[in-house]
Amino acid sequence: MSIVTACSQDCPDACSLVVERTGEGRARIRGNPDHPFTRGFCCAKLKAWERRLRSPSRITSPLRRTRGGFRPIGWEEALAVAAEKIQALRDRPGAILHLDSSGNCGIALHVVQHFFNRLGACRAGGSLCAEAGKQAAIADFGALDHNRPEDLLNAKWIVDWGRDLARTSIHQLALVQQARKRGARVMTVSPGGDGSEAWSDETIRIRPGQDRFLAAAVLHAIDAAGRVSPALLDRAVGWERLGALLRGGDPAFWERQGGFAPQDVRRLAAIYGDAAQPVSTLVGWGLQRYRHGGENVRFIDALAVAAGQVGRPGAGVYYIVSTTRFLDLSWKAPLAAGLPGRFFKPTIGRDLLTADPPVALVWVNGSNPVNQSPDAEGVARALRQVPFKVVVDAFLTDTAELADLVLPCALNLEQETLVPSFFHDVLNYARPVFPAPEGVRTDAWIAAEVGRRLSPPVEVPSIEEAIRLSLPGGPERLSELRERGFIEVRRPQVAWEGFRFAHPDGKYRFPAEGPQADPPPPPGYPLTLLSLVRKEATHSQILPEEQRGPCRAFLAPESPAWADFDPRKPVFLASPQGRLAVAVAPLQGLHPEAVVVRRGGWMKLGCGVNRLIEDAATDLGPNAAFYSQPVRLEN
Ligand code: SF4
Repeated sequence: MSIVTACSQDCPDACSLVVERTGEGRARIRGNPDHPFTRGFCCAKLKAWERRLRSPSRITSPLRRTRGGFRPIGWEEALAVAAEKIQALRDRPGAILHLDSSGNCGIALHVVQHFFNRLGACRAGGSLCAEAGKQAAIADFGALDHNRPEDLLNAKWIVDWGRDLARTSIHQLALVQQARKRGARVMTVSPGGDGSEAWSDETIRIRPGQDRFLAAAVLHAIDAAGRVSPALLDRAVGWERLGALLRGGDPAFWERQGGFAPQDVRRLAAIYGDAAQPVSTLVGWGLQRYRHGGENVRFIDALAVAAGQVGRPGAGVYYIVSTTRFLDLSWKAPLAAGLPGRFFKPTIGRDLLTADPPVALVWVNGSNPVNQSPDAEGVARALRQVPFKVVVDAFLTDTAELADLVLPCALNLEQETLVPSFFHDVLNYARPVFPAPEGVRTDAWIAAEVGRRLSPPVEVPSIEEAIRLSLPGGPERLSELRERGFIEVRRPQVAWEGFRFAHPDGKYRFPAEGPQADPPPPPGYPLTLLSLVRKEATHSQILPEEQRGPCRAFLAPESPAWADFDPRKPVFLASPQGRLAVAVAPLQGLHPEAVVVRRGGWMKLGCGVNRLIEDAATDLGPNAAFYSQPVRLEN
């Protein structure tokens, strides 16, 4: 028997899945062939998902902290303790901090937020991931939007500007490959080492994080060639100023900053400047993680728009769209007034330590802030001084280790939920296909049960109710969602058609300043640390039993940094924040000033690369500037 369900991982592809039981009591998981974006395949992470569900490391009963560690307790006791601690803060709910993230991207995220918003608790603003890029896109276009994904097939050129398609979106990669078969060509711009040569016709290797200089140089070249789209300039604000700034700029300085050659600029100018050939630009999801991350995105947007490469079939800039854009979340209580602005995810350790009034209770779900935040040791220190911490998780993560109460939760494919995407236009329905271990509960159930025990109680909608209330189109669509496993939300094929943008005057906004240079790194730290996504796991969702050996660091074979250490002795990756034992391996194609570590390894198991990263914020956002960390390799 096969069951249609959906994946709720933090992944743009938001797959619809078909799960079939095999004779041996196991299950075969594959992509739903009827789903317009999933198109019959899914990634290796989900094919091996049962390993995670059945892991011996899973927590299967609530845990209460004792002097020496934890003791298992029953749910009645756990819920009573959680309710008692929250009840004691009912008259000062600002002392409660709710920390969540995208550990599970289904509707439960909003159900739990509703509970804490009703209490009047604080939440952390900003983002560990994409906020700088989102704010950049909103500053430029007025809102988040992009052409429908399948419009990539109308492009003559696809410029993959920093998106590691093989590790972040295998379904976009499939579309890119299909477009190539139809005659499109692909240019990839990245610091290299990502394997993109396999699907690229041409590549440009850039110094990590300096993309804005390349985009500015190409924009300058297009302007000099008289190829800035006249139709667009009537529909934009700020070109006169930016154009003048670029004309007065120093192309040689931009080349040095970006580490690119004049022919790279000419090549990209030829691609973008040919109005007869539609160009689709995939703006990378790591570009915003640099100190000038917002600017990186803004200059790439500006280049595509000035060249007229938006607003028509095959020509568009793809970044991120809001996961909630099709949902009616009017049922959800808003965040209490006056609370935003106290806590930010990129600086959460510092913010907790300096909070006035101090935080008395932290509730963490769908998130592993100790592992995933910059200055990981600082975040751990800050959490330790909070009087009571509740962590809802399935494993004893770096964050759960610090909890006073651990509440074990159900995982992806063990629960009903509605899953939107931040890239495509289909809403998926997930029904539970694996029984959750006895002793674990869903995040939403936990919030509802704690709410029921409060006086006065706080009502929390069930998942079924939340889906019904959130779904566009009324009850018929709910039946369709349940029957098919997904519904498509129709919207225009092309975003910004006729160069009509979402700012109140309908016009595009160019950046008001030229590209800014980074401050020089501290002496003795010649490398830039790129803590990139891994293919086989999402964030820190790596089974502890599969984390063996030291953290691996990758360096270009020609990097001068090989001379800084003796590989026969223990090697450390060091920043001004600390150091981490690593095993160094060569990575062909990587920029020689970069060192790559795949993020998510656990601190308590000897990895945890975020302990090396300063809690600096990006120019827009706030977003954590993970990729602007200077480091060195040493013995
Ligand atoms: S992680 Fe992404 S690609 Fe993999 S199954 Fe889930 S949604 Fe699909």
